[in-house]
Amino acid sequence: MLYDQWIRRERKIRARILGSSPEMKEYGRCRVCSDCGELCLCHELICPNCGSDRISQEVLADRDTELVRGTRMRLRRRFEQLRSNDILGRGTGA
Ligand SMILES: [Zn+2]
Repeated sequence: MLYDQWIRRERKIRARILGSSPEMKEYGRCRVCSDCGELCLCHELICPNCGSDRISQEVLADRDTELVRGTRMRLRRRFEQLRSNDILGRGTGA
């Protein structure tokens, strides 16, 4: 599976999870990677995009736009891991 297809689906799922968290609803607050700005889910101790463990709470200036566009949901590291474990199928390129 190609990254573009995969990330589109992942972004939808993550946007739904992030958007439904009480912290986000109430304060627009979310866990953000200090190194690359990735929006992290509450159970993620390591950034799924760059692998950093420097994650802190931040208030998003425009949460609705963030969640719809998903520009800070890239998950590069997660994707590489899936690909190297061959979960996404062999020889898909991306
Ligand atoms: Zn990061």
